[in-house]
Amino acid sequence: TAHDDILAVSNIEVVYDHVILVLKGVSLTVPRSGIVAILGANGAGKTTTLKAISNLLHAERGEVTKGSILFEGEEVHGLSPNDLVRRGCIQVMEGRHCFGHLSIEENLMTGAFTRRDGKAAIRDDLEKIYGYFPRLKQRRGSMAGYTSGGEQQMCAIGRALMSRPKMILLDEPSMGLAPQIVEQIFEIVKDINTKEGVSFLLAEQNTNMALRYATYGYIMETGRVVMDGTAASLRENEDVKEFYLGVA
Ligand code: ATP
Repeated sequence: TAHDDILAVSNIEVVYDHVILVLKGVSLTVPRSGIVAILGANGAGKTTTLKAISNLLHAERGEVTKGSILFEGEEVHGLSPNDLVRRGCIQVMEGRHCFGHLSIEENLMTGAFTRRDGKAAIRDDLEKIYGYFPRLKQRRGSMAGYTSGGEQQMCAIGRALMSRPKMILLDEPSMGLAPQIVEQIFEIVKDINTKEGVSFLLAEQNTNMALRYATYGYIMETGRVVMDGTAASLRENEDVKEFYLGVA
């Protein structure tokens, strides 16, 4: 593990319901201020990997039974999701999970719940987030449940940013969105990465889009990493082209 890795996952196994072995020894690293993608088909284990890192498996009767998860060099396996958020690691779950009956701005403010600094700092960050997502500013008073899928995805990322994270785990940001909107969202992610230094680990089925923005990728199949490499090398790989990019 390099010194400048913000996240180092080594050989983790995850079991659901005490018996179903779903992750069979997954290892990956994310460099500080990097963008790394976990790729693979539906059911390969991408979501399980993210949830293992952020300790969100309990609700689904899953647990990490082996391996280690180091965030900034410290073992975090067993920390509560809130403790992880306080340390700077937060997950944006698949399906966006905005509070439909709250306004966009109220949703964003819920993201500040772990912070102990003052209202002024939180207000400043809200404005900063509106800078990245002008669309959210326009829609700040709208009930999230009545906004578009793209706006809800932006809201979910914006809410995560309100916790002042060092790293965001982003599960399937492209899901159900038109290509143009997906591109907009990836551009903003890239911008946040560049300007704030926030690291991203994203799970994506949209291999093509993910490999345009990530610098490194891991390809998963049935609970294992079967290939990894720089985004450039994966884009040129014949198997990746055939099975994941659809350009045989
Ligand atoms: P998706 O694109 O659907 O998110 P994925 O690559 O993220 O796919 P996972 O959701 O991590 O895949 O699922 C990996 C495997 O674990 C699948 O075979 C799935 O059926 C199984 N699985 C997921 N959640 C549970 C659960 N709560 N109990 C039992 N098995 C589960």
